[in-house]
Amino acid sequence: MKPLDDAQAAVLGELRKLGTETVELADSVGRVLAEDIEAREAIPPFPNSAMDGYAVQGLDVTEPGAMLKVTGEAAAGSQPGLQVRPGTAVKIMTGAPMPAGADTIVKVEDTERVDDVVKILPAVPEGTSVRSAGSDIPKGSVVFSKGTRLHPTHIGVLATVGAARPPVARRPRVALFSTGDELAAPSTATLRPGQIRDSNRIMLKTMLAEVSTVLDEGIVSDDPVALRGAFGRAVAGSDVIVTSGGVSMGDHDYVRKILGDMGDVDFWKVAIKPAKPFAFGRLSGVPFFGLPGNPVSAFVAFEQLVRPALLAMQGATRVLRPRIRAIAGEKIESDKHRLEFVRVSLELQDRGRLVATPSGGQGSHMLAALAAADGFAVVPVGEDLVKAGQGVDIELFRNPETRSLALG
Ligand code: AMP
Ligand code: MG
Repeated sequence: MKPLDDAQAAVLGELRKLGTETVELADSVGRVLAEDIEAREAIPPFPNSAMDGYAVQGLDVTEPGAMLKVTGEAAAGSQPGLQVRPGTAVKIMTGAPMPAGADTIVKVEDTERVDDVVKILPAVPEGTSVRSAGSDIPKGSVVFSKGTRLHPTHIGVLATVGAARPPVARRPRVALFSTGDELAAPSTATLRPGQIRDSNRIMLKTMLAEVSTVLDEGIVSDDPVALRGAFGRAVAGSDVIVTSGGVSMGDHDYVRKILGDMGDVDFWKVAIKPAKPFAFGRLSGVPFFGLPGNPVSAFVAFEQLVRPALLAMQGATRVLRPRIRAIAGEKIESDKHRLEFVRVSLELQDRGRLVATPSGGQGSHMLAALAAADGFAVVPVGEDLVKAGQGVDIELFRNPETRSLALG
């Protein structure tokens, strides 16, 4: 059996990076920057007020009760040009440029206005509530490095620095199909005896959509001719092929055999549980991931081997999910010979204590227990038991809202 690290390294060793394209900022969530992004200007570009209030000279407001003559008004979007001299103030709105001569802002709540005179109630330290040019982002600095995967927070910054069409890695085009004579479309109202609904394809499709462009090739039956045809079609126009089912030891598990006939196959027993059988290979140079058919196995194999690969092809610097530490809420049993991914739900208890409890049955067909989980307790090879109360590593595969607020 291949350790997971070796399997991941072997997959990455077979992949090539994709080219670059530019995209509209609004379409760039989840994409990976192909170049460093530099700030051509300082952000903010000019010193401005952090408050609605009065722009003054700090020397005038060292004592409470200063009386200053108001000589003008500066709104956000106005041109700089006003001047604050000793003994005077300019009324100013948040975001308006600092008038020449002013170095301090007094918020409006700390003032009393009578006609053209403003009384500054407290003493105000020089520099208060002024946002200096470059205080957010210095001019010329690298705001994000190549390889950053874009989140809405990054997108706000890119907008601020004027990177309206960022250069990103092209997304891999992934041909996806399910294999199995037993599979029926999810919309099937009445299953024939022996049939099940194809849950893998839609699950994998939605997971793929976060990191790639999906080409949905449907369901292919356990028939060598049909599979050959599907493989041939999938190669055209795709960068990666992902299938589920047909890679284990059954008489009708043709995927691995046909991949071997048409291309190259590396079949591995990866030392993980679930998802031990896993076929990886190439078909006319296109990397091919043959995931196991059991839904939880397909999910685990996707998370551990496919998703990181698709992100790495885009040059992403970080490709693996976060791991955190939690306390086992009850005992967690595992296979001593394999790295086991136990489906657990997490509960945040008082003072940040995170407690992980198996979310249900751990059979590789038990999709409901997967859906009830927030992550995997990752139990290393050599351990077969985590006792209740012991620490355990958790790999988060989702980041759910965990606290409630009721509507009025
Ligand atoms: P296989 O890997 O083809 O031997 O399938 C292993 C198990 O997973 C069998 O119980 C299959 O019925 C089931 N299975 C295979 N493909 C799917 C699918 N697309 N959706 C749900 N279950 C599947
Ligand atoms: Mg099958």
